[in-house]
Amino acid sequence: MQHQTIKGLVIRETDFGESNRYITVLTEQGTKIEVLCHNVRIRNGRLSAAVRLFCFSEFTLYQKGDKYTLNDATLIHSFWGVAQDMEIYALSCYFSECVMAMAESSELEPQTTKLILYALRAVSEQKRNQKLVKAAFELKIMAICGFAPDLSACGACLKPINGQVYFSVREGVVIDKDCKKRIGGKDFVALSSGTYEAMKYILSCDMSKLFSFTLGTESLNQLSILCEQYTLYHLGRGFSSLDFYRTLCP
Ligand SMILES: [Zn+2]
Repeated sequence: MQHQTIKGLVIRETDFGESNRYITVLTEQGTKIEVLCHNVRIRNGRLSAAVRLFCFSEFTLYQKGDKYTLNDATLIHSFWGVAQDMEIYALSCYFSECVMAMAESSELEPQTTKLILYALRAVSEQKRNQKLVKAAFELKIMAICGFAPDLSACGACLKPINGQVYFSVREGVVIDKDCKKRIGGKDFVALSSGTYEAMKYILSCDMSKLFSFTLGTESLNQLSILCEQYTLYHLGRGFSSLDFYRTLCP
């Protein structure tokens, strides 16, 4: 048995038996591990507080093969406050589900952990527009995991775009007005300049500034629709947490 200490965020919890819990931890290094926590629900408060959903903690684990068992845990920061608001809780669960889906389809990056921590902080503090945080999270996680759309130039003629920009969720590229006329491209929708600038900003900005932009209502609505469509289309799946969130925020 190997003994090790890691820091990570609890992104899923499943209670079983009288007092046991399985947790899924997204580590600082961006790996996803399952940890068995024995008797955690009857042990001291300090330990059980550190292994709850949306807690960022330091875990001391025993490793045997690819199985991990909890020995000790110390809470570093809790985002459990997100559970006080049903909409924010549903959105936070969606962030977790996105990360878990990414872990199935590609190698996770340390950036993924940073991203979800920033997103949880943003929604729990409620200083940023929820729709904006969700959209920026979606586009950024797609980019981190290798699914970034190419917004740098027209995807058809490869020239820089002046004037109206059209974007296709399916193709993940933008084209200009002339190419749109030439090739038809019914998948391509006209982007507002605000939406286009916001998408470029999200893809290129430093993670700590990810949610530091504002957008008019129409552009924000367009960004919100496109980022969600882009995520669902390229992951080829839906999310129960997103469906639930949609029942609260249609
Ligand atoms: Zn073109």
